[in-house]
Amino acid sequence: MKFARLAVLVSPRRHPEMLTRRRALAIVALARGLALLFAGLTLAWVAVDYAVFDPALAGRLAVVRLIAVVAFAMVWGMPPRAVSGLASAYARLLALFAIPAVFHVATQEILRTESVEGLARGIAAAYSLVPYAIAAGIAAFPIVIVECAILALLPLGLLAGTTLRDATLVGNAIVLDAFWLLFLITGASTFAAMSQVRLLAALIRQATRDPLTGCLRRESGAELLEAQFRLSQRSGTPLTVAFADLDRFKAVNDAWGHEVGDQVLSAAARALRESVRESDLVLRWGGEEFALVLPDTDAKAATRLVDRLRERGAGQRPDGRAVTLSIGIAERRADATPTASALVDLADQRMYVAKQAGRNRCVHSCGGEARIIFDLP
Ligand code: GH3
Ligand code: MG
Ligand code: MG
Repeated sequence: MKFARLAVLVSPRRHPEMLTRRRALAIVALARGLALLFAGLTLAWVAVDYAVFDPALAGRLAVVRLIAVVAFAMVWGMPPRAVSGLASAYARLLALFAIPAVFHVATQEILRTESVEGLARGIAAAYSLVPYAIAAGIAAFPIVIVECAILALLPLGLLAGTTLRDATLVGNAIVLDAFWLLFLITGASTFAAMSQVRLLAALIRQATRDPLTGCLRRESGAELLEAQFRLSQRSGTPLTVAFADLDRFKAVNDAWGHEVGDQVLSAAARALRESVRESDLVLRWGGEEFALVLPDTDAKAATRLVDRLRERGAGQRPDGRAVTLSIGIAERRADATPTASALVDLADQRMYVAKQAGRNRCVHSCGGEARIIFDLP
């Protein structure tokens, strides 16, 4: 469990879908905001250049600045994709970081041939700090270690380019200092970026999970189910919903009280969560009812979930008797359900057929057999 939480900070591959979506939205919003801010600052600095450099040099720098302003404005105005996925967030993020990198190379090229004195020298030196500003910019985004490392290649490459080219001009100690400072800034901003991911993940978990069972709340789960349904329609892949309801659960509450009922319910939910694959979703649909959303799974493959559940068991009541469930299964393609809610409704109806057939059963198709799930003594 602890390892899974750490893994979330390393790579985006195992992020829950809700985190991926929210992160993509946040990255796009932040990149747009920063692009607008940088467009304004880059433009305003033209006045500073004209105040301290001779007009010819200030003019050449102004041309580079104006190109950067247009590029920043384009990052701000980039049309949002229909699906706000990570890919479109990455595109905006890379563009935002690439602009100052190109700006740095162009301005260094212009400035290295000039010899300036006094205040102008200080302003010219500030141009060489762009790699550090890029490294610090990483801190603004909720991104993970792998993403930070990829972005950090930009300032590292820029600094390496400058120092290698001017190796004869600067001493080894200065070069080392420059890299040391860059690593320090990159480390601090990577830490800040990861803290954002950690906070975002915790907030999303809190907002989307039901605290008693650890399953997805119905509202947030339904949003993900809708998304999975559309994805399955587009790609033509199967999508199965298994609707599970605890058998005679009211009797547990009546005999041992609500608190014990809660424990039994929570243990059964854990059994469901541990029986599904990582890509599956477990929603607490109602009191003791769960909807299991199984992407890329047809009804036949869904029997494997029932097999795993049979082997694992769904917990015990205080009198030692096994907790049992009734399950109804429906699949988008085979059952030709037009909407996500029709798919859940059909699985729910089949769950009732399983109840009527004697409970502790699983029903796959209309008029099909109700198979016993748990072997009871
Ligand atoms: P069946 O086999 O027909 O499903 O019988 P059942 O007793 O499970 O079904 P019923 O729908 O009559 O009862 C569900 C019960 O679940 C009623 C309610 O008290 C209980 N319940 C719902 N949510 C919770 C909860 O969060 N905690 C506890 N302890 N009980 C809950
Ligand atoms: Mg029940
Ligand atoms: Mg019920």
